Amino acid sequence: MGQSTRLPAVFSFTHKVCPICKENKKVEEYPTYFSKARNKHRIGNYCKPCGRKEAKPRAIKNYQENQEKRKQYAKDYRANPDNKEKRRKLEIHFKKKYREELQDCYVRDVLATRYDIPTEVSREIPEIVETKRLQIKIRRKLKNLKNGKK
Ligand SMILES: [Zn+2]
Repeated sequence: MGQSTRLPAVFSFTHKVCPICKENKKVEEYPTYFSKARNKHRIGNYCKPCGRKEAKPRAIKNYQENQEKRKQYAKDYRANPDNKEKRRKLEIHFKKKYREELQDCYVRDVLATRYDIPTEVSREIPEIVETKRLQIKIRRKLKNLKNGKK
């Protein structure tokens, strides 16, 4: 019924020199794509084998470049006073949650600040965290009993 919008790839040339391997190759050996902006088929810069070899370092490079962008974004986000209040509220919320649920990070924090046990140590020996957690649980329970709560 409807006509296909994808036109067959027709080029005014049959061969092209790849800038990487410097070989004059048939256009079939190049990737093709449809350029919406130019409304016509385009041929990739590098031949297929070279394109594949290029893809990985290019992906790594892109990742590294984007990493800088991501870092900058996080920095801008933190610098924005509008977000400062939002972040502070979130921090309070999570601190409270970790404390109530006696999560590892909270127990490790207690061990580090009140007992001088560095986080690396409590991370290495999970029994320390387990024991401290139990201890806090018992203490909280006793406190609640004393206050008449269950
Ligand atoms: Zn090539």
